[in-house]
Amino acid sequence: MEFIREYADWFYLIGAVLFILTLRGLSGPKTAIAGNRYGMIAMAIAVLTTFFVADNPVVWMIVGAMVLGAIVGIARARTVPMTQMPETVALMHSLVGLAAVLIAIAAIIHNNKLVELGPDLLAANGINFHEMSKVHLFELFVGCFVGAITFTASVFAYGKLAAKKWAKTISGAWVKPVQALIFIAMLGFGIHFFLTGNMTSFWAMTGLALAFGWVWIAPVGGGDMPVVVSLLNSFSGWAAAGIGFTLENNMLIVAGSLVGSSGAILSYIMCKAMNRSIINVLFGGAMGGAAAPTAGAGEQVQRNYRSGSADDAGFLMSNADSVVIIPGYGMAQGRAQNAVKELANLLKEQGVTVRFAIHPVAGRMPGHMNVLLAEADVPYEDILEMDEINSDFPATDVVLVIGANDVVNPAAKDDPNSPIYGMPILEAHKARTIMVIKRSMATGYAGLDNDLFYNDKTMMIFGDAKKVVEDMTKAINGTGH
Ligand code: NDP
Repeated sequence: MEFIREYADWFYLIGAVLFILTLRGLSGPKTAIAGNRYGMIAMAIAVLTTFFVADNPVVWMIVGAMVLGAIVGIARARTVPMTQMPETVALMHSLVGLAAVLIAIAAIIHNNKLVELGPDLLAANGINFHEMSKVHLFELFVGCFVGAITFTASVFAYGKLAAKKWAKTISGAWVKPVQALIFIAMLGFGIHFFLTGNMTSFWAMTGLALAFGWVWIAPVGGGDMPVVVSLLNSFSGWAAAGIGFTLENNMLIVAGSLVGSSGAILSYIMCKAMNRSIINVLFGGAMGGAAAPTAGAGEQVQRNYRSGSADDAGFLMSNADSVVIIPGYGMAQGRAQNAVKELANLLKEQGVTVRFAIHPVAGRMPGHMNVLLAEADVPYEDILEMDEINSDFPATDVVLVIGANDVVNPAAKDDPNSPIYGMPILEAHKARTIMVIKRSMATGYAGLDNDLFYNDKTMMIFGDAKKVVEDMTKAINGTGH
């Protein structure tokens, strides 16, 4: 054990490098499993090293908490359906926030107790004690309030995503002034604590930070929650890094900073792909979820579109050279991924080149489509990102859009007045033939009409994604009616 103590910094360094490799691995589906393994090894190294480095650890408490956590974690990981992943992640972030708050409270109480005992008594017992420096107080102040905000905000995000009754969206003119008031009061008490070490201010700051987390996130629309969850992921990282300074644990500082920065980058990428700013998501009120009927709704009735059957579509696709499948939220909603994989395999057997095109914000969480296609065992090499496939559309015979809408809306390129103008899209409209599977002419998440559906080259195939895709497969197989 002396060995671990002596070389603790080396172990932490190995852990930090493994965490960096984890993030690198998680950036692509092929390397994601290896990435996860690096992360598990790094975490084991971090926990074990910290365990042996700690002065007089209360072993039964630590082991008890670890066993309890492992049981809950394993049970949840085994049973959670893919659709409940975002809320599970939100719940996990809330625990990181809570841990940061509890550690800050423990560190302060511990320090105050030592101060009470007095330097003479401590010296007599061989305890080396330095009063908390200003830097320490600052770390605690920041780590604690960021942790507290992360905690209640993540609990709310969990409730919202899990459609719990208590997670009610709030709105009204009063919201912003109340948010500002709580935030300013929280900072005021925090600064007072920092300057004086006053405990009443510390408790007031913590309570207000908990309240702020709630009122800050409660007005955000349900559809924007994935961005919020990613942002809270980043917050939980910064809170952990702050506490890492307090505990003088380099590993926690590095791991927290990695989580903090990667979460911030992901939030930025998501906002960019939705053509929104993070400020707009957090303070602009609800855009998503409301799916307000647009001015275009009246127009829809008059505009002409062509619809066809699954049989027609199957026939056309089996005679094509190249097919690109664009999955969207509707494929997830209809749980059609396995049926889609079968259709793709069948077309391939018939000599058709089949590829999948993924938009960064297709579906309702980052990587939503990648996860579903991986679950259905679609080969990674058939799955292309937006930038890789966009130039291929003009030479593509058939584009099959399955439950996607906003991510293929040409208004994002052509209509400067559209709310999604400037958002990068999959340029399906450039293909020779376009087929769209959805249940009706209804709008998607952004609540906008889509010119692609009225394009001369487009055939709408109405129905539930899974049923239509299965019918297409039957038609190509010749087993249809
Ligand atoms: P959209 O929400 O734009 O459209 C989905 C379409 O699927 C709907 O028009 C719906 O039409 C159809 N649909 C729903 N259920 C079924 C079903 N069972 N069978 C067939 N069709 C179905 O989805 P996209 O994936 O194109 O775009 C994602 C949107 O979500 C973007 O606006 C993005 O900004 C937003 N977003 C994405 C996040 C992410 O992280 N991925 C996070 C937050 C928001 P109908 O009702 O007629 O069937």
